[in-house]
Amino acid sequence: MAIDEQQISSIVSQVLGRLQQEGVIGSQVAAPSAPQPIARIQPPAVSVGGSDGIFPDLDSAVAAARVGQKQLVEATLDTRKQMIAAMRQIILDNLENLARLAVDETGLGRYEDKLNKNRLVATKTPGVEDLQPIAWTGDDGMTLVERAPWGVIGAIAPTTNPSETIICNSIGMIAAGNSVVFCPHPSAKRVTNLAVSLFNRAIQSAGGPKNLVCSLAEPSIEYAQALMKHPGIRLLVVTGGPGVVKAAMNSGKKAICAGPGNPPAVVDETADLAAAARHIYAGATLDNNIVCIAEKEIIAVAAIADRLKEELKRCGAYELNASQTERLMKVILLKQNGPGEESEINKKWVGKDAHVILREIGVEAPSTCRMVLCEVNRNHPLVWTEQLMPVIPLVRVRDIDEAIELARDCEHGYGHTATIHSKHVDHMHRMARVMDTCIFVKNGPTFAGLGLGGEGPTSFTIAHPTGEGLTTAQHFTRLRRCVLKDSFRIV
Ligand code: NAD
Repeated sequence: MAIDEQQISSIVSQVLGRLQQEGVIGSQVAAPSAPQPIARIQPPAVSVGGSDGIFPDLDSAVAAARVGQKQLVEATLDTRKQMIAAMRQIILDNLENLARLAVDETGLGRYEDKLNKNRLVATKTPGVEDLQPIAWTGDDGMTLVERAPWGVIGAIAPTTNPSETIICNSIGMIAAGNSVVFCPHPSAKRVTNLAVSLFNRAIQSAGGPKNLVCSLAEPSIEYAQALMKHPGIRLLVVTGGPGVVKAAMNSGKKAICAGPGNPPAVVDETADLAAAARHIYAGATLDNNIVCIAEKEIIAVAAIADRLKEELKRCGAYELNASQTERLMKVILLKQNGPGEESEINKKWVGKDAHVILREIGVEAPSTCRMVLCEVNRNHPLVWTEQLMPVIPLVRVRDIDEAIELARDCEHGYGHTATIHSKHVDHMHRMARVMDTCIFVKNGPTFAGLGLGGEGPTSFTIAHPTGEGLTTAQHFTRLRRCVLKDSFRIV
């Protein structure tokens, strides 16, 4: 369906008007202005876009993103840098709105943690500086390899990091000269589209084009599937669970896929147990454990398991006894599978506070309690399941060999994230090699691997199935080689 600018403007005005009425858009965000005519490099193939990047259908969004992208590559790199600076700033100005809306709309996670996650991606996602050329010179002249954009990228976002994914993907994709059409998770469309509209405002305020970041007003799985097949999309970037990753990898398009994890935390007899407990408690409770990199099970060698549990309880964890654990499993798991397989979780409890989950089995814990701890055997369903809630199983094992073997198995070979707490260099080295994960953290919370309290840039699209790891601008490019024969040497 082709729509005109007036219709799009009216839809965007309604969406933003509602968001403003509900207090979810900050005062920094002005009411939408009437769309200005786009200075088109060439006429768009299908349709035109609105000024806030939110469209009622996929064809209009892709067509508008295509126009925006053509304008982007005509603009100077300096303008691109200014656009990215403005994108970072508008997110920092709207952290509270994004965090509040994410919790209210999705019902997942914690407001305070979402502030930190959004701040992290706004400040530590690399920009244009991530794109470095490679040059060779010699008797035969000079060869230069540069990173060129793909054009319009199709990106699918999860409900667990609804604005964080938009922020890091958009900054990286635009830094690399692309535009992007997002398909949000249907249960996170308001917060996702808030981030999209904020970015459109920031980009235009910095002199950039409209519609570099586009999204759908009413996303659905069908739209996500249509995005994967759309002829105007050259690259897919998908962040979510196993279903969407499989669909993208079967789409026939180049796909960068970030899928599920089940990160183990191994603790050996040489670890500083107070520090290990502090780090695991902080990591496994981040945003109530909905983050894919968050510690999902603890594997402790027998010699220190009791002391580690005491330290975890000192941090605030509530330990269940065996019968309480059994009761809780009936609440949070819909179907319990054996070792080696994921069990089916009850989504009602995903991302909920620990004390709320405990209340369901009749345990009253203070609201400061952020972790439910349960000691289980290695075959317990929770050890093998990405539970996405702050209920953390602990398995006691004989020694480091058994710990590493179990960590490898229960991570399912995803190659996502793992962590060890140890002072034994050989143990750390051996586990890192065996796990072969995109992120491996020694003696810290797994979120240090995202650059949160750890060194290095960040991303919330950790592409383990397709091998890019933490995706940044350079991954959203095509390598292009330009050769100058014979005549160019300066030495
Ligand atoms: P989800 O798979 O339910 O949804 C993710 C997105 O994919 C949504 O936009 C959804 O509409 C779409 N989708 C789902 N199934 C699809 C299909 N068959 N075809 C097309 N589109 C489809 O995941 P979620 O609950 O939103 O997010 C949690 C999951 O995502 C967890 O497994 C988590 O580990 C993973 N995740 C991974 C990363 C990473 O960087 N590796 C980051 C965030 C989340």
